[in-house]
Amino acid sequence: AKTAGGHRWHWFDQSMDDAADDAARLSADLRQALPNGQIFALYQPIIDLTTGLPVGGEVLMRWQHPERGLISPDLFIPLAERTGCIVDLGYWILENAFRQTAVWQDRYGDHTPAKISVNVSARQLSEPDFVDRVQEILRRTGADPGRLVLEVTETAVFATAVAVHQLERLKALGVRIALDDFGTGHSSLSLLLDCPVDLLKVDKSFVSGAAADQAGALIVKNLIGFTSDFAIEAVAEGVETPEQAARLRQFGYQYAQGYLYARPMPATDFEHYFTAATVM
Ligand code: C2E
Ligand code: CA
Ligand code: CA
Ligand code: CA
Repeated sequence: AKTAGGHRWHWFDQSMDDAADDAARLSADLRQALPNGQIFALYQPIIDLTTGLPVGGEVLMRWQHPERGLISPDLFIPLAERTGCIVDLGYWILENAFRQTAVWQDRYGDHTPAKISVNVSARQLSEPDFVDRVQEILRRTGADPGRLVLEVTETAVFATAVAVHQLERLKALGVRIALDDFGTGHSSLSLLLDCPVDLLKVDKSFVSGAAADQAGALIVKNLIGFTSDFAIEAVAEGVETPEQAARLRQFGYQYAQGYLYARPMPATDFEHYFTAATVM
């Protein structure tokens, strides 16, 4: 039995080594991904539930790996956070999205309804010069801060008082702040109300239950129950069925995002989606 156990452990160690090697290789590749032009951005429309028209979109990062193909951000973003790569990737996507926003505002004028949301990781938000660099990217790209939303997660917001201060400085630049994956964290309501948050993005794990049983519907309803008192708007993430959309509308959600409307798409397709749906 001892031999077998030893053997098992040996096998276990080996597979752990392989996994560690794999992660090490992937993070080495990730460091080269930006300079090698393997990182790109997709845009997923966000819909106004009352009009059914798109009002903006979220920018989502993709990594086209030369051998492994398209790698999901659920895999490479956590890796990038551990290695610190997220800082460079984060500035790249901000620059890219702001530049694109400036192109659209020039092309379609002041009446452009498009608001563009960019994800900001906790690690990036905690960089001491983050706000200065956002300001500098705004200046360099000419993007109107009023068209931009920065999405932060609850951990990023509530981990430190410094982060709250950063958010206040960001808002002073004119950008809006969205609290991403709302409901999955464990912050109290009072903490949330102390934070300078303009939008809540209710996580798809709750949204998927909106049209299921009574409990699922109640949760989705209660998650935004207080927002109207505080001028906070709500976006439902991961809306996949017309039944979910109907419930969300009924519960007072203003905006929705999900495969029911559109998948993340290249900037040119997003632009066409917009011009086809709205008078820009
Ligand atoms: P997230 O910020 O919560 O983004 C929403 C995710 O839900 C996206 O996954 C989107 O493609 C997916 N989604 C949208 N509609 C539906 C739907 O109807 N059904 C389902 N099942 N999924 C839907 P994606 O693009 O794979 O991104 C995963 C996560 O990676 C993001 O979650 C975000 O946390 C992170 N991420 C993506 N891009 C960036 C980025 O540029 N910077 C940072 N820091 N994180 C990013
Ligand atoms: Ca997001
Ligand atoms: Ca989210
Ligand atoms: Ca998420």
